[in-house]
Amino acid sequence: MGRLFLITLEGNIYSCKHCKTHFALYEDIASKAFHCRHGKAYLFDKVVNVTLGEKEERMMMTGMHTVVDIFCVGCGSLVGWKYEAAFEKNQKYKEGKFILERFMVLGPDGSHYMANPEAQVAGSDADDA
Ligand SMILES: [Zn+2]
Repeated sequence: MGRLFLITLEGNIYSCKHCKTHFALYEDIASKAFHCRHGKAYLFDKVVNVTLGEKEERMMMTGMHTVVDIFCVGCGSLVGWKYEAAFEKNQKYKEGKFILERFMVLGPDGSHYMANPEAQVAGSDADDA
C-alpha cells in the first residue's frame, strides 16, 4: 500500500472522532432520519476518506439491502455503511449513498454525540418518508 492520501474538506465537516479525518459535509446530508445500533445515523450523498468492506445482504427495518461497511482510512474505525442496492423499489433512493453513525463522528462544531442508552437493533435503518 502507498502513502495515505487524505482529501481535505472545507466548510461544516463531519470527521472521525478518533483521528479527525474528514468524512463529509453538512451540505451533503440527505437525511437525518436514520438509526443504527448506537442511536442516530445520517444519510450522506457522498463521503470521502473511507475504505469499503465486504458486500453483504443485511435485513434492515425497511427491508433487505446490499450494503458494505465503511471504515476510516486514518484509523480503521467502523464508521457506518454504504448502500450498494435496495431490494424494495421505494428504498432505491439510498443506493450509492452512505450512512455515518453519529456516535462515530464529530459534528461541524466538534460536538460528540452520546450513544443512546436504549438498545438499538444491530444493523437498523429507517426511512425518511
Ligand atoms: Zn479515524
